[in-house]
Amino acid sequence: MGFERKKVVVLGAGYAGLQTITKLQKKVSAQDCDITLINKNDYHYEATWLHEASAGTLKTQDVLYPIASVVDASKVDFVKAEVTKINRDEKTVETTNGIFHFDILVVALGFESETFGISGMKEHAFQIENVNTSRRIAKHIEERFAHYAQSTDKDDKDLAILVGGAGFTGIELLGELTDRVPELCKKYGVDPAKVKLTCVEAAPKMLPMFSDELVNYVVEYLEARGVEFKIATPIVAANEHGFVVKNGEQEEQLYANTVIWAAGVRGSKLMEESFEGVKRGRIVVREDNRIDGYDDIFVIGDCSAVMAGEGDNKRPYPTTAQIAMQQGEFTADAIVKLLNNQPLGTFVYNERGTVASLGANDGVGVVMGKEITGKKAAFMKKVIDTRAVFKLGGTGLALKKGKFL
Ligand code: NAD
Repeated sequence: MGFERKKVVVLGAGYAGLQTITKLQKKVSAQDCDITLINKNDYHYEATWLHEASAGTLKTQDVLYPIASVVDASKVDFVKAEVTKINRDEKTVETTNGIFHFDILVVALGFESETFGISGMKEHAFQIENVNTSRRIAKHIEERFAHYAQSTDKDDKDLAILVGGAGFTGIELLGELTDRVPELCKKYGVDPAKVKLTCVEAAPKMLPMFSDELVNYVVEYLEARGVEFKIATPIVAANEHGFVVKNGEQEEQLYANTVIWAAGVRGSKLMEESFEGVKRGRIVVREDNRIDGYDDIFVIGDCSAVMAGEGDNKRPYPTTAQIAMQQGEFTADAIVKLLNNQPLGTFVYNERGTVASLGANDGVGVVMGKEITGKKAAFMKKVIDTRAVFKLGGTGLALKKGKFL
């Protein structure tokens, strides 16, 4: 290596970006390279806990921690700024806090909500995107209960919550809501029988990655706690009254004063503006997480599509915190190898399993190939959540922010 230190720039402090940084800072000395981390906020938040923050079962401050608490300031410059443009050929990144040159770039800009252009969705439905959107949802739900309790001409729609989508996000949100609703009913003196939780799902079968047994468990658990499912019922619009859904050939208006869209995510919008061949904010990455034609650009986390399978069966792995963190670890190693002109090797995703929580005390999942339900699944989910904190911030942070206290 010459005297000119290479500039490594990491965009985004979500699971993928922060894992890259926390591993890389352990592997290099301050003389090896200049590392810059750029993130919109000066905190990291647990994106996989947003359903809890949205329902109000976790407080916003419990879902986040300062980036400074896990970043080694002697090796990493943290810049609080929003990335506005990536100039891949000029090797610069434009931000709201200046322009940065890079020799090696890691794009880890995370996810946004995807409404598929459905009319009125952005204006009339809440989206679960970050701690602020989640905080607003929890506040809104509580305000509706309070309003119902105080008003003389009771509006039942104040106690109606519509959730669009029965994917993992929708299901986990409903699980939390069934924990939260009894608390709100008690606090505001509301009859629980009057509360209406409805989940609307377009597909004829929900959670297609789970067996029928697990899906039945989810449905029975949530129905027993008052959730009504409308399956094979696509949402075609949102308006000030709620969702408009398709019921066979008929359109039907569903009414609620809380309407949440949890039916789709995409990678950052900046991806389409910066690269070619991007679909829903995701770009197919090579086996070492770099993109075609650019040996100095890694794309990881929700903005990347890691392909699995062969031939016609080739499709991207689902975007999860689990794969994002593994990509981050691989990328930290790969950067060290790149700095030393060594081959980078191949990223191999080690899929440990999936657990969906159903509130704090129940859940379903597949772990190490075994199906689990109930308290066991809820416990595993807490292990997974706490492990993510530990992997980024070590024991101290895991004790402070983990789920076992
Ligand atoms: P998703 O895309 O997985 O699910 C969205 C659901 O909404 C689907 O069931 C889809 O059929 C439905 N839908 C789409 N359009 C609709 C419409 N117009 N009307 C009604 N329903 C409609 O999205 P997600 O649940 O946000 O998950 C995103 C990613 O994050 C996935 O890869 C998921 O595996 C991952 N995730 C994992 C966990 C976990 O492991 N516990 C938790 C949350 C999310």
